[in-house]
Amino acid sequence: MSDSGKHYTGGCLCGALRYEANGEPLFAGHCYCADCRNASGSGFIPCMGFASSAVLFSGQTRIFTSKAANGGDAVRNFCLICGSLVFGGEVGKDDSHTIYAGSLDDPSSFRPTIAIFTRNRPIWAVIPPDLTIFEAMPS
Ligand SMILES: [Zn+2]
Repeated sequence: MSDSGKHYTGGCLCGALRYEANGEPLFAGHCYCADCRNASGSGFIPCMGFASSAVLFSGQTRIFTSKAANGGDAVRNFCLICGSLVFGGEVGKDDSHTIYAGSLDDPSSFRPTIAIFTRNRPIWAVIPPDLTIFEAMPS
């Protein structure tokens, strides 16, 4: 666990799926890829990355796996009860996870700095000012 003092908590709509994460996120940004758009029914997914060792999940998930842009698997976790999309990455297997920031108990604690896959962005999915823009996945 990191000792930076930052602590994030959140979960799904019904409360059955919860998480807590500690320390600074590895990244924080908006993903405008077509898969995130479809998975969320929204224009983008606001997300933060954490090392697996920095985040704890509780509750059951339904998992959906699709092909990621890098050729690997993109695993998305939904609450088994209410269907909310809460986090990415396979628990117990992946070494990092993405937390979907709309699920935070305190959404004001999310501070996005990057916008990724903006080549897939519909015109109405507006990018906030001051984000560093990447047409695809930053290398
Ligand atoms: Zn739920």
